[in-house]
Order: sequence, then structure tokens, then C-alpha cells
Amino acid sequence: MPLGLDASLVGQRIVVVGGGVMGTLHAYIALERGAEVVHLERDQVPVGASVRNFGLIWVSGRAEGRETELALRARELWQAIAEDVPGIKFRANGSFTLLASDEELEVAQRALSRPDAVARGFSLMNRDEVLARNPAAQGRYLAGLHCERDAAVESRLALAALRHAMIASGRYGYHPGRELTNLRDGAAVDHRGEVHAGDRVYVCVGASLSGFTRELFESEPLRSVRLQMAETEPLADSLTTSVANGDTLRYYPRFRADALEVLPEQDTTAAHYGLQVLMQQRCHGGVTIGDTHEGERPGIFDAPDRPMDMILAAARSLIGPALPRIERRWTGVYHQMDPARSDDVYLRREAARHVTLITGAGGRGMTLAPAIAEESFQ
Ligand SMILES: Cc1cc2nc3c(=O)[nH]c(=O)nc-3n(C[C@H](O)[C@H](O)[C@H](O)COP(=O)(O)OP(=O)(O)OC[C@H]3O[C@@H](n4cnc5c(N)ncnc54)[C@H](O)[C@@H]3O)c2cc1C
Repeated sequence: MPLGLDASLVGQRIVVVGGGVMGTLHAYIALERGAEVVHLERDQVPVGASVRNFGLIWVSGRAEGRETELALRARELWQAIAEDVPGIKFRANGSFTLLASDEELEVAQRALSRPDAVARGFSLMNRDEVLARNPAAQGRYLAGLHCERDAAVESRLALAALRHAMIASGRYGYHPGRELTNLRDGAAVDHRGEVHAGDRVYVCVGASLSGFTRELFESEPLRSVRLQMAETEPLADSLTTSVANGDTLRYYPRFRADALEVLPEQDTTAAHYGLQVLMQQRCHGGVTIGDTHEGERPGIFDAPDRPMDMILAAARSLIGPALPRIERRWTGVYHQMDPARSDDVYLRREAARHVTLITGAGGRGMTLAPAIAEESFQ
């Protein structure tokens, strides 16, 4: 048991609905604590936000206080889980936020002066120092804010690797192709009318919802955000750290207040699409690049080209013209807490006796999932 959790769930049966990272980590932590787990998933293979993301285990930009504490604990858990499940491909690769102007540099310097800079592993490096650590970062920038605590996993491999490990426990039953259509006290009902009863039920169905589950979350203080992503053909070099550009300072809560004060206004189109650049090299060599942020609206299904063109131009300015051609693009949707209605980090709500809804972790759900799951079983 690399997580060192107590066996407080021995003899209990836990039902988890949703095969994304939130549901899968609930199943994993429940098993670690000794439970028998029944895991339901609507699709044959999960294709939600959890397999569409960067796989960033991102500590650097988290809001101070509870959000950062959860992120640090989650990172610790991911690293420990990787000892048992190497197939998640956890890499403690750190990140650079590459700073291209004096204003961006000032925002980074302010973050460095805060008391929590040490816990995040922040340090400021000049361009030569960045290049010594990440020789592929050949673009135009002045310096890099290094975050030692940032890490990455391989999103498209992690869920299957975790399920594979859980099956070996003999206490885990995975049931793909089972859609939740109703809830009762301590039970989930699937589309065949089969009732899956347990001591507790956790509903982790993400943000791509319809019918019963859409109505289940209708009155919650959530909003749905749609992102555009792309992946390149394999890069000749290795991008040894995750990479972000200075626009991320505008959006990550740790930096946002300083960025609003110090940075010039973002270009109108970029601001409209909430543009920022994040890059994470995949194990096969391609680079996942994103992202845009738009409120999900009924009837909108297309992905406009212009914002992605802008992201790719900005990505080239960081790592140079050697960025390979784009091989594939996709979009993804997550739930986040609506800041006008809630300041919780994520949504945890009792929907019936012994039935808990978990969602709303937003663009940090991949990072936080193990720590959120741990909170469920404390
Ligand atoms: C493009 C993108 C990039 C991101 N990048 C990052 C990142 O790098 N780092 C980070 O920390 N976070 C990131 N996030 C956020 C993170 O991916 C999400 O917060 C997280 O994946 C949400 O996990 P989930 O399990 O709740 O949802 P999902 O991954 O959507 O999983 C929900 C599952 O429930 C199933 N389901 C739905 N309805 C039913 C039903 N009725 N019955 C049974 N099953 C059902 C779905 O089929 C799905 O498999 C990103 C998100 C996106 C969209």
C-alpha cells in the first residue's frame, strides 16, 4: 500500500458512477482503503475531459490556501500511485512559465516574494538557465518562472492503467456501457433498470451530460467551459519540462491579481477566447498544445480556427520554428464552480441518502482528483 491509507472501508461496498479521472480515483482510493468497488461508465471507453487534457499535475498557479494545499497533496498521491501503477507515466518534470516582457517578469517576481513560493518550488531563471534545463525552449523570452512541484501524467493511458491495477485486487468490478438513469438512497440505477446498491454511491459524471444527469446538476452553482486543444507530430527534441506562456499569468489565480495590475490588456480576440499557451510533451514525442476557454452554449459544436492559429503562433514564439505540424485537434468540456455563486474549490453535494455528487474541479480536475477522492473517504 504505497499510499499508506488505513483500511477503514473493509467490508463496505462502494458504487462509483463515471469512468473519468474523478470516478477512477474514487474507485482506486476506496480499494486502497479495503472496500469492494462497483464502477459504472456510460461509454465503452471513457472519452470525457480526463482523456482530452494535458495531463498536467499543476501546482504553480493554484490559489493560495485550500486550493494549493489540495494540489500539493494530490501531487504527492499521484507520485505514490505511480509506484504501484507505472502505466500512468507520472513525470516530476516541473514547469517553466516563459516570460517575454518586463511586465510578465514583474508578475513572476511578485509571486516569488510570497510566503508560499517555497512550497511551490518557485525560482526565477534567466534565458541561459532555462535553456540549460530545457534546450528545446529556443524561442524569444527573457526568463522563466520555474515551478519544481509541477508534474505530468499520460492522460490517455492513465485510466486504463489504473483499471488494470484495480482488477488485480479481485475486489473491483468495472461495468462499461452502463448509463446512470436514476438514483435512490444508497443506490444507482442504470439504463437497464439494474440497481447497484452500496454503503455509499459517488456520482462523478463530468460535464458532458444529458437527460437525468443533466437535470441532476441543473441548479448547482456550476458553469461549463469548452476548450480547444491540438497535438503535434513528434518533436525532434525533448521538451524536458511543461511550458506555459505569460498569458497564463492572467488566468491562474495565484498570479491573476498582479497580472491585472501590471500587464497590458490582452488582445481582444485572445481575451474573448481566454487564450493562453500550455505545452506538454507526450511520451510518444508529440506535444499537446492549448488552450481556449469559452462558456459552453446550447447549439454550439464547431471549433473556430483563428484562436488555435493564435495559440500555435504563440507556441512557436516560445520554442522556436521547429514546432512540428499539428497532427490532431479536439475540444473538451469541464464543469467549474461559478465564481458568482460559489467560492468552493469543487462541488460535493448529497443527492440522496449515501449518494454524493462530485464535479466542478474545472481546469484542475486531473491534478486534484486523488486528493478529492481522499476527502470523500475521510
Ligand atoms: C481540454 C482540457 C484540458 C484540461 N487540462 C487539464 C490539466 O492539464 N490538468 C488538470 O488538472 N485538469 C485539466 N483539465 C480538467 C480535467 O480534465 C477535468 O476537471 C477532469 O478530467 C474531470 O474529470 P471527471 O471524471 O469529473 O469528468 P470526465 O473526464 O468527463 O468523466 C466523466 C465520465 O462519466 C461518464 N458519464 C457521464 N454520464 C454518465 C452516466 N449517466 N452514467 C455513467 N457514466 C456517465 C462519461 O462517459 C465520462 O467517462 C482539462 C480539461 C479539459 C477539457
